[in-house]
Amino acid sequence: MTSNKRELLIMKFGGTSVGSAEAMNTVFEIVQQEKLEWKNIAVVISAVSGATNILLETATKAANGNEQVIVSSVEFLKQKHFEIIERSIPDETLQGAVKEAISELINEFRSLCHAMFVLGETTPRALDAVASLGERMSVRVLSAIFVSKGIPSTYVDATELVVTNNLYQNANPDFAATTTKTRAVLNPLFAQNMVPIVTGFIGATVDGITTTLGRGGSDYSAAILGAVLPADDVWIWTDVDGVMTADPRIVPTARTIPEILYSEIAELAYYGAKVLHPKTVRPVIESGIGLRICNTFNPSHPGTRLVASFQGGEPTQMERIIKAVTTIRKQKLVTVEGRGMLGVPGVAARTFAAVASTGTSVPLITQSSSEQSICFAIPTAPSNDVITALRTEFSKELANNDIDGIFASNEVSILTVVGHGTKNTPGIAGLIFSKLGDMKINVLAIAHGSSDVSISLVIDSSDDEKAVICLHDLIK
Ligand code: ADP
Ligand code: ASP
Ligand code: MG
Repeated sequence: MTSNKRELLIMKFGGTSVGSAEAMNTVFEIVQQEKLEWKNIAVVISAVSGATNILLETATKAANGNEQVIVSSVEFLKQKHFEIIERSIPDETLQGAVKEAISELINEFRSLCHAMFVLGETTPRALDAVASLGERMSVRVLSAIFVSKGIPSTYVDATELVVTNNLYQNANPDFAATTTKTRAVLNPLFAQNMVPIVTGFIGATVDGITTTLGRGGSDYSAAILGAVLPADDVWIWTDVDGVMTADPRIVPTARTIPEILYSEIAELAYYGAKVLHPKTVRPVIESGIGLRICNTFNPSHPGTRLVASFQGGEPTQMERIIKAVTTIRKQKLVTVEGRGMLGVPGVAARTFAAVASTGTSVPLITQSSSEQSICFAIPTAPSNDVITALRTEFSKELANNDIDGIFASNEVSILTVVGHGTKNTPGIAGLIFSKLGDMKINVLAIAHGSSDVSISLVIDSSDDEKAVICLHDLIK
């Protein structure tokens, strides 16, 4: 008898989706249901909600001389995980074994934090070791729940699968090495009809040192595994009904977008829609893998499907072109200006090299046509370092008055309107500006995306919610 089952599905569940005994039970039910449709399933999960924040905050506070916080965080993490275990795993032997495994990881956390307290400093490498513990704990709990409820399962630390460079806290995978390792570990588990529960977020260098892929990186982990195995589909399970027209926390009337182009979701994710990590899209497009975003707490809702092109043709009415509005907060606009910059080759290159030397990335750039100023956005946190790096780079030009100012603005937000055709359809920009004008919201800078998919504006941070709400009215 031949089975009609599809081959391989990766399902990723975020922090809220594994944040309680009830949520983990729902994850089990979803996997059990999909096992009827798929030959093999791999599950990728985040740390339980809040755990990564606690781990990282505790490490930083310990390095700053606060020893007491280690005790309270240890207690919190223990209680959070033990409660889920006690409520979900009736068998005492299995319960004891998982508690033991969690206690070992918590001891590792305690030792790492003590070391940081004694040294009075943290390093990106040490912070990755600490941050990885959240996912390493959650997979042990969930796989024990699966076993206890009757789905053969084992946990896998992605340090055994995902090989990365040593850019700690924002590491990049080596796809070739990851392919070999991932297939070697996961394919034998599939052959035994096991459901592996894999840590999102983490990887390891070739030397086996733990790295992380950046905050929110579990989505990316699922895409990486999907690409290298390869899987037919990657489904991202979260706490909202898919990708929506705006962040529902800002716009309560935001609606699910049933189908979205790869290019549109890439732009939305890049410009701040937390629902998907921006790096997730590329591996799935390049491998032709299906991507779906759905709600753990409303599993019968179809959520959002990513598509390469629209089935019924592209929307032509102006009102249907705008798909979503998003915002990135806590940014500053940096300006480098001076008459002496006019026509001088290399100023832009030196500017961005100086910014890059601080490890800061630039989400938006504008330049005046007279070349007398370059203006770009950066996150607020590194802005002092960036200004110092620029003043050092251009110290001669500043002394000669060829450059008369290098400065950062007050805090701003980047507001982005996303939709295929937004840039090239006459009237869209006018619509956006008049709507903002009606609300007396001043636009400080503007950048058309280099694709045809978005328009980004910079506004004062105090206007951002109002701006998202009013531009959301443009979506029909
Ligand atoms: P997870 O832990 O499942 O990865 P995240 O908190 O990282 O979940 O992302 C889901 C959240 O993203 C939602 O709760 C929602 O508030 C936020 N969000 C921001 N923009 C959007 C959007 N356009 N559509 C859906 N959710 C969005
Ligand atoms: N647990 C990690 C974080 O909070 C990764 C993730 O949730 O995707 O950033
Ligand atoms: Mg997330």
